[in-house]
Amino acid sequence: MKKVLVFAAALSMIFMLVGFGQAASKGYVGVSMPTQSSERWIKDGHTMKDILEKRGYTVDLQYAEDDIPTQKAQIENMVTKGAKVLVIAAIDASTLSATLDNAAKSGVKIIAYDRLLVNTKAVSYYATFDNRKVGVLQATSLVEGLKKFKGKGPWNIELFAGSPDDTNSFYFYSGAMDVLKPLMDKGQIVVSSKQIAQDKIGTLRWDGAVAQSRMDAILAANYSGGKKLDGVLSPYDGISRGILSSLISFGFVPGKNLPIVTGQDAEAASIKLIKAGQQYSTILKDTRNLAKVASDMVDAVLKGTEPQINDTKTYNNNVKIVPSYLLVPYVVTKDNYQKLVIKSGYLKESDIK
Ligand code: BGC
Repeated sequence: MKKVLVFAAALSMIFMLVGFGQAASKGYVGVSMPTQSSERWIKDGHTMKDILEKRGYTVDLQYAEDDIPTQKAQIENMVTKGAKVLVIAAIDASTLSATLDNAAKSGVKIIAYDRLLVNTKAVSYYATFDNRKVGVLQATSLVEGLKKFKGKGPWNIELFAGSPDDTNSFYFYSGAMDVLKPLMDKGQIVVSSKQIAQDKIGTLRWDGAVAQSRMDAILAANYSGGKKLDGVLSPYDGISRGILSSLISFGFVPGKNLPIVTGQDAEAASIKLIKAGQQYSTILKDTRNLAKVASDMVDAVLKGTEPQINDTKTYNNNVKIVPSYLLVPYVVTKDNYQKLVIKSGYLKESDIK
């Protein structure tokens, strides 16, 4: 009788646990995102959480607000709590390698999300966009805008790059320079400040305010005498908005002599500026698709199968070449934002009113 009671109690415990969803979970997945200060990471994180939860995982989504020690602590905490897989978009990837090596030792699988994780062999796969192509598209749209609106040239431009601790910045920059360098060599494009090398033009933490001050300084030093400035290569919408504020307060007038400014991420605030004719272009990277690719990688590493990958050459993280899936980026301008950004459902019309 006692045995029967104990058995019944044990059985009801199991039912309770199943009922609360814990025992039914396919596993605990930690999703570590860099910041909520930019729209894209908010979307990335929440889309992934939705997909993975629908597939039966328990998801711990954390944002580190661009603070490196916070991200490290959040990841260590996920490991302590028993994460089976970590999906990470790093703030500064090089600071995480020891943490990731330790996690891998306890059997945790690691997927790099959008930004490569460097100096560790612990990373299994990398889900991202074709980052070099992003740079090529940014520079191509800059040149297209210059041809359309700034006469025959030679054109004066200035260059901005992303955060120096983000490997993506390197790919964006080198893709862009593939397009711009030949035109600079011919004298068709001139960088008056002479700030050209990546270490001269980086923007720490992709911070728009940092870019705005650098633009202010460049304008004061090189364009005070009324010299025209035709274009600015910007790697990210938040940086573009800082640059545009600087240009307008210096006296450039939208619709008249405002330089062509590029961007990235199709943020609502920048699509508004594109509609208004202030920012020339941005790059759409559909984060819904990236979240889906990364979620498929989670499934695969847990099943011990190969996820779909389409690049095994490009992303050397200093220890190994990380097998990657690269998604396609698109240029967005005033002419196609309705189709690419609104009709696709990436943003709602009400977001850009
Ligand atoms: C991402 C870009 C983003 C930038 C700033 C990069 O790593 O690839 O999409 O604009 O970070 O958040």
